[in-house]
Amino acid sequence: MLVLGLEGTAWCASAAVYDTETDAVLQESDAYVPDSGGIHPREAAEHVADAIPSVVERVLDRLAERGWSADVDDENDDGTDGGSAPPVDAVAFSRGPGLGPCLRAVGTAARTLAGRWDVPLVGVNHMVAHLEIGRHRSGFDSPVCLNASGANAHLLGYRDGRYRVLGETMDTGVGNAIDKFTRHVGWSHPGGPKVEEAAGDGSYVDLPYVVKGMDFSFSGIMSAAKAEYDDGTPVEDVCYSLQEHVFAMLTEVSERALSLTGSDELVLGGGVGQNARLREMLAEMCDARGAKFHVPEPRFLRDNAGMIAVLGAKMYRAGDTVAIAESSVDPNFRPDQVPVTWRSREES
Ligand code: ATP
Repeated sequence: MLVLGLEGTAWCASAAVYDTETDAVLQESDAYVPDSGGIHPREAAEHVADAIPSVVERVLDRLAERGWSADVDDENDDGTDGGSAPPVDAVAFSRGPGLGPCLRAVGTAARTLAGRWDVPLVGVNHMVAHLEIGRHRSGFDSPVCLNASGANAHLLGYRDGRYRVLGETMDTGVGNAIDKFTRHVGWSHPGGPKVEEAAGDGSYVDLPYVVKGMDFSFSGIMSAAKAEYDDGTPVEDVCYSLQEHVFAMLTEVSERALSLTGSDELVLGGGVGQNARLREMLAEMCDARGAKFHVPEPRFLRDNAGMIAVLGAKMYRAGDTVAIAESSVDPNFRPDQVPVTWRSREES
């Protein structure tokens, strides 16, 4: 079976085809890079709307080059030739969470393609897809997932048919918090890789550390980091300390989530997961408690359509499709709103 995935929750227009037979993912992406400042929602939406047709075309060209074909046949119900067969068996798309104007562009593209090819449409929660690509690639059974992305930061764990939010940021997402600091310093977007590089030459200064139960907050630490920089503390020291504090907070809460659920499996999701220091802290914590730790390859950490296609295929197999008329997007789509329809099928 072949499933086309479409992604465009914020800065990245991406299309992927997942082949369930070979477990291979073909992926084409086109990133929006703001001229100045952070992500401008209108510009990002224009980018997604402009770029989606070409990433879809590119990925379908690669599909054709490989000679892969969908299981869907091209016969009408009465046995007559229905014309050319669709290139994929289903179309999956990011339904949320994300920037509304971007999501609407992706939703429109997905509905158009599913309607034109007459194949089912699958609406995927982007944050659950981050977890599921880690679970899929690691072979873990029931991991806790730390999603550390631009707009989000939370811990997910499975219980009674849903992925429950075990802990989350009380204000901004982790990547967005880091990006706000780098904008203050005058560095271009995205800031995370620049902080990682500068941190290599830094030393420790005290910053606020805010974990409350299973939740955490980044706004105080960002204000303090900006103030340190304004007071003349070398930017390398602020970057180093920012990473040490923020990633220690995420590691502490991840450990607590493992302890709470009794799980011995942790997966990492989201663009901040590309950071080597965050991975190192999480790996050390997992090692100390005898837990397994999996980080998906970089193309599946940042925003990407591959994870949408992989979860889309699981949902499609479970019959979890959506009618075009009911496929509106949801910028505030929480992971715990999603009935996990596909896991019982995997277990049977
Ligand atoms: P989501 O929609 O899942 O919340 P997103 O649209 O914010 O995600 P992602 O690709 O998951 O996008 O993450 C982008 C964020 O990752 C940016 O804030 C960027 O600064 C951060 N980032 C990228 N590389 C690194 C790195 N090496 N270290 C720290 N942060 C990083």
